[in-house]
Amino acid sequence: MQDFDPHSANEGKDKDLEGIIRPRELEDFTGQGEIVSNLRVYIQAAKMRGESLDHTLFNGPPGLGKTTLAHIIANEMGSNIKITSGPVLDRPGDLAGLLTSLDTGDVLFIDEIHRMSPEVEEYLYSAMEDFVIDIMIDKGPGARSVRINLNPFTLVGATTRSGLLTAPLRARFGIKCELSYYDTADLVRIITRSAGILGVEIDGKAASEIAMRSRGTPRIANALLRRVRDFAQVMGDGRIDIGIARYALDKLRIDTMGLDSIDNKILRTMIMSFNGGPVGAGTLATAIGEDQGTYEEVYEPFLIKEGFIIRTPRGRKATDLSYRHLGLENLRSDGPEEPNTLF
Ligand code: ADP
Repeated sequence: MQDFDPHSANEGKDKDLEGIIRPRELEDFTGQGEIVSNLRVYIQAAKMRGESLDHTLFNGPPGLGKTTLAHIIANEMGSNIKITSGPVLDRPGDLAGLLTSLDTGDVLFIDEIHRMSPEVEEYLYSAMEDFVIDIMIDKGPGARSVRINLNPFTLVGATTRSGLLTAPLRARFGIKCELSYYDTADLVRIITRSAGILGVEIDGKAASEIAMRSRGTPRIANALLRRVRDFAQVMGDGRIDIGIARYALDKLRIDTMGLDSIDNKILRTMIMSFNGGPVGAGTLATAIGEDQGTYEEVYEPFLIKEGFIIRTPRGRKATDLSYRHLGLENLRSDGPEEPNTLF
């Protein structure tokens, strides 16, 4: 059976379901309490003043709700949203077309904003600050630039690597929000709500089992719910109880700590090939056949948060928890935990 890859479990038909499940109002957005309550105030204040909302930056690992919040902002402001992403915006001209098409108060959402080219980024500065852009007309000696006024808009940027944003870009966002991983109770709420929308019956125990194995991430929680639903339909009567949830999650090779097969591969490689570390992120990523950015953005933050890996000045190290989790305590070379059994 092919391993479940929750990070790309967002294709085809599932994508349509995403559209249905995605909360449209702040009211339906679970968790991230402080961010939600602050946004509520900022949105209300902007509406009272009849202004567009300040430019807003969301930072955090994939699947935590950055895109959802951008949609919610547009919805709550009663405006339209245009969506693009950093790597897609090749030339300033691409951006100019988008910016001039925005109506007053519209939201321009730029995903992966840290991956914009420096040229495009620089072009964005005057648009963000003064709602104007300069467009070059003609080439060669006749070239001249024409200033164009834009309608006041809100730029919503999302990034998984805020450390890669330049200081001038970061400074142009009036609102900055750091999204964090969700706790089990919030994920239970999200799963229960999604199950309701999908018309699936699920009991509390099953919802918490799925929640605990979702890496603190709503996108994964929803993806697991859909897969467990498949098992419930084929192997049972369609209802999700704890038995079917556990069975399906085991089949999907999501272990009891919520780690998927790549997480486990990372820990195993650290221990078996690098003696538990310290090992550099680049070396480790190469050893597991992943891109370093993906390793650092998608996998490592959760493994660090859960205490499986620590960062040291000399590189990443596997913790006691990793050795125990994989049943490899006997390979621990420097741990004080091992009793001396030689004599
Ligand atoms: P990101 O842009 O951070 O990668 P998304 O906004 O695309 O994440 O969220 C992924 C999916 O998870 C969404 O389609 C939505 O269904 C769900 N989701 C995210 N955050 C929440 C939340 N706080 N409450 C309910 N569902 C959520």
